[in-house]
Amino acid sequence: MGKPHVVVLGSNFAGLGAAQKIREFARDSVDITVIDRKSYLLFVPNIGIEVLEDRNPMYSMHMPLIPAMKEDHLDFILGDVQNLDVDGQWVEYLPVERLGATVAKIHYDYLVIAVGARLAYDKIEGFAEYGHTVSDTYYGNRLRHYLYHEYQGGPIAVGSARFHQGTKTRDLVPTAEAACEGPPVEVMLSMGAWLESHNLGGPDKVTVFTPAEWIAEDAGQGIVHALLSKAGTMGFHYVNNTHDISRITQDGIEFAHGPSIEAELKIVFPDWVPHAFLKDLPISDDVGFVLTDMTMRNPKYHNVFACGDAAAVTVPKLGILAHMGADVVAHQIAKDLGMMNARKADEPMRPIVDCIGDMGHNQAFYISSNTWYGGDREVFRMGHVPFLLKLQYKEMFFRTKGKVPDWGIPVADFLTEMLTKG
Ligand SMILES: Cc1cc2nc3c(=O)[nH]c(=O)nc-3n(C[C@H](O)[C@H](O)[C@H](O)COP(=O)(O)OP(=O)(O)OC[C@H]3O[C@@H](n4cnc5c(N)ncnc54)[C@H](O)[C@@H]3O)c2cc1C
Repeated sequence: MGKPHVVVLGSNFAGLGAAQKIREFARDSVDITVIDRKSYLLFVPNIGIEVLEDRNPMYSMHMPLIPAMKEDHLDFILGDVQNLDVDGQWVEYLPVERLGATVAKIHYDYLVIAVGARLAYDKIEGFAEYGHTVSDTYYGNRLRHYLYHEYQGGPIAVGSARFHQGTKTRDLVPTAEAACEGPPVEVMLSMGAWLESHNLGGPDKVTVFTPAEWIAEDAGQGIVHALLSKAGTMGFHYVNNTHDISRITQDGIEFAHGPSIEAELKIVFPDWVPHAFLKDLPISDDVGFVLTDMTMRNPKYHNVFACGDAAAVTVPKLGILAHMGADVVAHQIAKDLGMMNARKADEPMRPIVDCIGDMGHNQAFYISSNTWYGGDREVFRMGHVPFLLKLQYKEMFFRTKGKVPDWGIPVADFLTEMLTKG
């Protein structure tokens, strides 16, 4: 009999992390195949820094995946996943290296779904003509061009469309109105600094908006209050309860609720929606995110796991949670294969909002909080040290091909808290 076959769908933070950890814990007792439609990892969190420094993010934010696959003996398929049969244990994909390929099928014993979410800019009227963002290198480079060649010095609006979370995990995680609000806070602060350093004004030209009662509510009330009071003192404008973006026009942003914001530059983050092929599957919630418990295992199909943004319990949609979820998935699969004891493997994911965001002027904010999930940790810092760590984390990630040592994040947290004032 052959070895059990683990198929991992997606190879960005969650998928690559899960495949590497499964190899680490299950060693050569499994065959692992990873499928992604691209052969590089997109390092999303640092795109904004490159844009504001007038560097094309494509040159520095793509980490080649093939060397990482080779190092861990992971079979890699450059393919677009199109369908799943969780009863027959098949994945259908289209090889994408050359146009004209035919749809193929691959059988799995264990399936890890780590395909993230669709960032639905296509649902925002007017985005194509008047919207900007920093969630990939294409849009990042487009914004860079705008800032350095077309920007007239007018007002800037930054914020999110409403997130539509499923309803079936309410007993496990809170419900969020926005998928991920670290990025708008980061862009607001760093745009203010960018305006200052280019003699184009400063924070009072920037308005940040949120569909929710509080921006970045998942960071916890104490942190949000500290952040808003600091931002208000600096001169930023804040609009809440916008509910959703109705449309973007040349003159600004119109909302489902409340008055429009006038802006020359509109930097927005859309709804994070599940991929179409996940909708209406017996493993998915009412919108299409994959249902799991906090060990990232589907309650009905025990050989199906999900981690990262594709998982219903990953709220907010955050890289640290992708990393934690990947680890938990690997523990579970190693346990099933008899390579890890249940006591260690069954430790559930204990979510935390951990994030470092650029503020410009070589400074960053650091948030580490679990109060939104009922915990008592709430740490907020600002300064040069977190900025240095944000840059260093990316360097370490690329150098280790994604295998940042387990001490990497705790040490970064420790250094930030020790070296930066609260
Ligand atoms: C601007 C911005 C800044 C951010 N900053 C931070 C930050 O500072 N810290 C933080 O923790 N988080 C941050 N996040 C969130 C973080 O980027 C995501 O949570 C993280 O990328 C999720 O990882 P993932 O692997 O689950 O999904 P993704 O990164 O979305 O990766 C999904 C992978 O699946 C592949 N895929 C998708 N569909 C298919 C298919 N049908 N077939 C084959 N392959 C497929 C994709 O090609 C991709 O490689 C930020 C997000 C944005 C937009």
